[in-house]
Amino acid sequence: MIMTYNIKKNGRLEIYLKILVSACLLGINSRYCGGGCFNEKIASLIGNHNLIPVCPEQLGGLPTPREPDEIREGRVFEKSGKENTDNFQKGAEETLRLARLLGADMAILKQNSPSCGSSMIYDGTFSSKKIPGSGITASLLIESGIRVISEEDILEISNLP
Ligand code: SF4
Repeated sequence: MIMTYNIKKNGRLEIYLKILVSACLLGINSRYCGGGCFNEKIASLIGNHNLIPVCPEQLGGLPTPREPDEIREGRVFEKSGKENTDNFQKGAEETLRLARLLGADMAILKQNSPSCGSSMIYDGTFSSKKIPGSGITASLLIESGIRVISEEDILEISNLP
């Protein structure tokens, strides 16, 4: 992990991280339903770290609000059946581009999302059933060597420097 040192106003040298964060966790209304899901614990990191909000589905060209999507056999479909795999792939690639451009140290992404979920996603049947797995963006970031955790990884978040 690349640590960046930041000289604070009081002259102390402190470590801060550049962290990609799912935009909806910071209260941005980027979710499929047109709302957000503000997470106070994540937002409280703002004082100590550089948070970089990203919404891979918007970066992939999808509108907000939009139909919910789920992953089925590696492809992504809207509830009504339209395939959006290309948008999800583009969003993942654009997110990775930002991560590299800005030198992100890690990412905190929204669990269960077909883009952002890092260890759990919905099972593709639109029946609210979750299964182990990761979303398209989280998978690409992990494959590219970027550490990805979710808002549910409370202990890891509490242990950030
Ligand atoms: Fe939030 Fe990620 Fe869904 Fe965008 S794609 S609304 S950032 S969970």
